[in-house]
Amino acid sequence: MAKLSDPLRPIVGEKAAKRLAALGPGLRTVGDLLTYYPRRYETRGELTDLAGLRDGEHVTVQAMIASVSSRPMRNRRGSIFEAVVTDGRGQLALTFFGKGRQDWRERQLAPGQHGLFSGQVSTFRGKRQLSHPEYELIGSGPAGSERAVEFATELIPIYPASKDIASWQIADSVRLALAAVQIDDDPLPEDLRIRHKLYGYARALHAVHRPADTGDYMAARQRLKWDEAFMLQVVLAQRRWLSTEYIAQPRPPVDNGLLAAFDAELPFELTRGQEAAGATIAADLGMEHPMHRLLQGEVGSGKTVVALRGMLQVIDAAGQAALLAPTEVLAQQHHRSISQMLGPLAMAGQLGGADQATRVALLTGSQGSAARRRALLEAASGEAGIVIGTHALLEEHVQFADLGLIVIDEQHRFGVEQREALRGKAAEGRPHVLVMTATPIPRTVAMTVFGDLEVTELTELPAGRSPIATHVVPAAEKPHYLGRTWERVKEEVGLGRQAYIVCPRIGGQSDPDSDDAAAPGRRAGRAARREAGDEAPGIADDATYGTADDGTYGIADDGTYGIADDGGFDFGDGEAEEQRRAALSVIDVAAQLQEGPLADLRLAVLHGRLPSDEKDKVMLAFADGQLDVLVTTTVVEVGVDVPNATAMVIMDADRFGVSQLHQLRGRVGRGGHPGLCLLVTEAPPGPARDRLDAVAATQDGFALSRLDLEQRREGDVLGAAQAGRKSSLKLLTLLKDEELIGQARQEAEELVAADPVLAGQPALGAAIAAMLDADRAEYLEKA
Ligand code: ADP
Ligand code: MG
Repeated sequence: MAKLSDPLRPIVGEKAAKRLAALGPGLRTVGDLLTYYPRRYETRGELTDLAGLRDGEHVTVQAMIASVSSRPMRNRRGSIFEAVVTDGRGQLALTFFGKGRQDWRERQLAPGQHGLFSGQVSTFRGKRQLSHPEYELIGSGPAGSERAVEFATELIPIYPASKDIASWQIADSVRLALAAVQIDDDPLPEDLRIRHKLYGYARALHAVHRPADTGDYMAARQRLKWDEAFMLQVVLAQRRWLSTEYIAQPRPPVDNGLLAAFDAELPFELTRGQEAAGATIAADLGMEHPMHRLLQGEVGSGKTVVALRGMLQVIDAAGQAALLAPTEVLAQQHHRSISQMLGPLAMAGQLGGADQATRVALLTGSQGSAARRRALLEAASGEAGIVIGTHALLEEHVQFADLGLIVIDEQHRFGVEQREALRGKAAEGRPHVLVMTATPIPRTVAMTVFGDLEVTELTELPAGRSPIATHVVPAAEKPHYLGRTWERVKEEVGLGRQAYIVCPRIGGQSDPDSDDAAAPGRRAGRAARREAGDEAPGIADDATYGTADDGTYGIADDGTYGIADDGGFDFGDGEAEEQRRAALSVIDVAAQLQEGPLADLRLAVLHGRLPSDEKDKVMLAFADGQLDVLVTTTVVEVGVDVPNATAMVIMDADRFGVSQLHQLRGRVGRGGHPGLCLLVTEAPPGPARDRLDAVAATQDGFALSRLDLEQRREGDVLGAAQAGRKSSLKLLTLLKDEELIGQARQEAEELVAADPVLAGQPALGAAIAAMLDADRAEYLEKA
């Protein structure tokens, strides 16, 4: 008997083993093959019946080859090969024309073979035929009626195949492997299997490949999904358990400190969600173990103030807090708005500063050296209770007197490694960590992608928020709508409000347009992102969203968490993209608007290539109402908060991702005035336009991120997640299997609490070790 870890060759033979190894995932062991699951199952009933074929129809039929013949062509060189197939009710001819003899086809399409044949039906000399059909052979069997009955009821597994190995050949190898294998161990604990009425492992593997009926394969798949969900959640639960083994300095709330003074002066009432999240965080901070919490919420739900209250609690307990922002624009804004919100409370040592006052320092990569030295000093001496910065905060020489809390804003641009780098700066033990997402993501995704964090959600928006009306402006079909767009901007400005105009690209001389033209779609999107981003080399700066490369949702090889609200990934209209012009640029659009439609308005540009102090100046002038219109890249995508801005025009909107558009739109409608978002596009009706219509149709960021997710390939959801890379999620879908994932998490939590190192579960432990090993191997291969 063979084991799952045995090589395939002795079982399936040299030739098949080679072909299986060459398949995408590289099937080398019995276990590899048996966990290569069918993509679907065919049943005869679902297919077109041969007796009912009509001319011109595109059909797939399932039939058996009854006879074959071959004859030379009459007037030309070459041959005609004909196979007649039958499903017991009707007959159909398959015709293939070849330049020479077609012996290989004759060998393949032998009488008795069963297959799926698809093509367009035509009639030739009174006979129905498919000319050059595509086909997938599903094996051979004894001819005759007995076989036909079996054939009619059998579920045929259809595997993802390649040009070198057909689905039925894979099925043949699977049959050999199933006959040879002996499976004694079951990775799922027995009591769990009983509780959830799950198949045993051996039974599930048999049934997933050779199901007796629909119920059988459904049960098998359910069980195998449990393996995936449970193992992943056990790994994550172990990680959380490990982190509770770390020691942190407890920072419990005090009565008459900064936080109390701040709360007393708060100009608004906290939402219930903010209250609840605040209470959870306050309790976490009082513990002896580090907090690892993800605060996720809708755009504009008021995450900053929740985080700030946590920071103040830590300062009250003699600690410091670091706030890490993904872009310089956002770091500067946080510095301004937090200083302003704190008022005298942030003016320690200054005239008018309050008694308990602290200081807020700003540290970015491109600030002047005097400012930088002062910030470094304030961080190291402990004078600054809050240190806000970009990735410059991660540099080695940045020291804190007593770092108690790390807040990471708009997480998708910072990765695990960055978190680690910051953690290392705590003097004693580990700091508490609060992570905030940029984009709301479905809970199961949060539980998996951010699975080592506890999740708190803010769904409610503060009262008095105005709705944002979103419209698609089809500039190619209705050019006058574009004129109307600029009219609307002027009307808003006429009312004393302000507008953003976002373009996918910076433009200008050092911006080779050919870059976009030569590589439209993905590459152009990436280029746009790269240059739209902030400051110099590093993480935050090129606005790398996770695995920006392929637009996946997940965690990049470098450990960057990515919710890739990436601009410009293509959605299958590749052909059309080849013809696409370069994306509109900030520089060009600003110049055109200033000369034409918006000549009377005060307009400025903002993008990542501006020097740091220039960016700050422009943002400040805009926030202060000295500018009417900001023509900008996605540097304003996250976090930027100017309540008086009411209009957002997004040029070439089809080049941005759904979540990214939602983020951008979140920049308006923040004050008491209704927001307006215009998505300008030249894309023709089709998938790209559908995405824009979806954004226009809802303001629910969770719904949009689901949509974003649905449009990605399943395997990409996790991307190169730390635990659970592509290889370990085959059947599980994060969106559809929410309930199962929730249950698996619960079970994993309980198991790990009782038996953290899985001493009582050797089979599970071994399966997890194998999974992590495979992940590591894959990781190394990529690196
Ligand atoms: P996000 O969750 O997107 O980061 P912010 O923290 O930037 O949102 O908050 C958006 C705006 O809402 C800020 O101007 C903030 O001062 C304001 N805000 C936050 N909480 C409340 C509240 N409870 N009531 C009114 N305004 C609030
Ligand atoms: Mg924010």
